Amino acid sequence: MSTAATDGLVALGNFAGAALLTDPVDLVAYRRDTSAATPGKPDAVVRPHTAEAVVEVLQRANRARTPVYARGGATMYAGGVNPSAGGIVLDLGGLNRILDIDLDRGIVVCEPGVRFGALLAALRPHGQTIGIVPSTAPAATIGGALSAHALGTGSPQFQSFGDEVAGLEVILASGERVCTGSAASSRAGYFQRYCIGPDLTGLFLGADGTLGIVVAVALWLHPLPEHRQTNSYGFADAAGVQRCILEIQRRELVGNIWYAGAYEAATIKARIGQAFPEKAQGPLPGFALAVDYRGDSGRVREDEQRIAEIAARCGGVPFPDFDAAYFHRLRNDEVYWYSFAGFFAMSRCAILMASVPTDRMTAFLDVITAQRQNYPQYPLGAALVMCRRGLHGGALAFYDEATQWQGAVAAMEECAGTLVAAGCVPYKTGKVWAAQVKGFGPYWGLLQRIKRELDPHGILSPGDLGLGG
Ligand SMILES: Cc1cc2nc3c(=O)[nH]c(=O)nc-3n(C[C@H](O)[C@H](O)[C@H](O)COP(=O)(O)OP(=O)(O)OC[C@H]3O[C@@H](n4cnc5c(N)ncnc54)[C@H](O)[C@@H]3O)c2cc1C
Repeated sequence: MSTAATDGLVALGNFAGAALLTDPVDLVAYRRDTSAATPGKPDAVVRPHTAEAVVEVLQRANRARTPVYARGGATMYAGGVNPSAGGIVLDLGGLNRILDIDLDRGIVVCEPGVRFGALLAALRPHGQTIGIVPSTAPAATIGGALSAHALGTGSPQFQSFGDEVAGLEVILASGERVCTGSAASSRAGYFQRYCIGPDLTGLFLGADGTLGIVVAVALWLHPLPEHRQTNSYGFADAAGVQRCILEIQRRELVGNIWYAGAYEAATIKARIGQAFPEKAQGPLPGFALAVDYRGDSGRVREDEQRIAEIAARCGGVPFPDFDAAYFHRLRNDEVYWYSFAGFFAMSRCAILMASVPTDRMTAFLDVITAQRQNYPQYPLGAALVMCRRGLHGGALAFYDEATQWQGAVAAMEECAGTLVAAGCVPYKTGKVWAAQVKGFGPYWGLLQRIKRELDPHGILSPGDLGLGG
């Protein structure tokens, strides 16, 4: 670290509203997130409890040119929180108050360190919930989710976490505080995102902390669904599932789907094999589409009927065994769900998430097949999650961190390049997709100009999105 930055750290000292950690033992836990990205080495951790303390930290860090990496629950698989340039990790877990539940406006306002589990529990007595919830709900924070474009539960209806954000309060590198959307007017507060010119809220969504630190978030509320059920369909191959999802999306039969995933033959065999060993010996579908419906029971029944007809036209048949063996439990047993569905039961996992147009689903799977052939030493799983439009596809490579870390990272870097060539785009960008972001010429140029304007000394998360570092 530079002398100026070291001086800056000393200047940080302890001040009201924040705790400062510099003991090397304390710092170990702040080196990385759940990704395979190279860990960083923080010089200090600051854990603020107020937005004013965040202002103070940024002003001091900006004067001293000290890097600042925002950190929520550190459950991301893109290395965004890893302090690759050293400096300060800003642990936002202490900013964890729910500030307002406004049922008339249909909005909840909270601090960024609020965990999903806590927010859902607070909303339940009001018969309310939020639109998008990642499967890491107990540990993941609202600030981390919006800065990393979370998705999952809710994506068929609401697409992405950012689509559920009504406005933000952000602190810029200079320490200036800005409210976006209608809350730019202190008399109006949060109720409308698209007003007063361009959508400045959007600038900070998915930004990995590179453009500002979010200190308050307004989210749309939704009534808790009255009815829930799950269904699974088996298909001979991925092409049938692709056609089925395309038609569901084209006809907008997604209003009562809270989650839908497509599963490959290997997953089907493993799940059926665990639950019903004898059935795993017989023929099984090559692909499955599993759907979690939630909503008004009458409407769910209608949608289910229409979707069953579409599935049948695309060669799909009801596959209740997959539901019984896995999917129903995944979607209804919160402990199982919260355990990340066993992703990490056996080993470390390098995850690369891409946005996939539905008409390129089979192209995405071709990349996964090639990757498996080229790198059999890192067993690869593919996960496909349905959104209102398009899909999100994950490549999950299991590896032994003691002996295979560098090799697995290099293999996933290659996979990232191949996915872009196949028409997919980076998602959950952090550091793992940084090289690809730099490849999108004019887009990359504009991003750099915005960065220079908002963070002229490049102190915010250098290295993330390929900016600075
Ligand atoms: C097994 C497993 C399953 C997962 N399942 C899902 C899933 O279903 N859906 C999904 O979307 N994701 C999933 N994830 C990824 C991750 O858990 C989520 O995206 C989660 O929302 C990230 O929140 P976090 O608080 O942990 O963020 P962090 O990892 O702490 O941070 C993410 C990024 O946001 C930045 N950041 C954090 N807080 C702020 C702030 N206040 N202001 C500015 N920048 C900030 C960080 O610098 C970093 O770049 C999964 C991860 C694992 C390991």
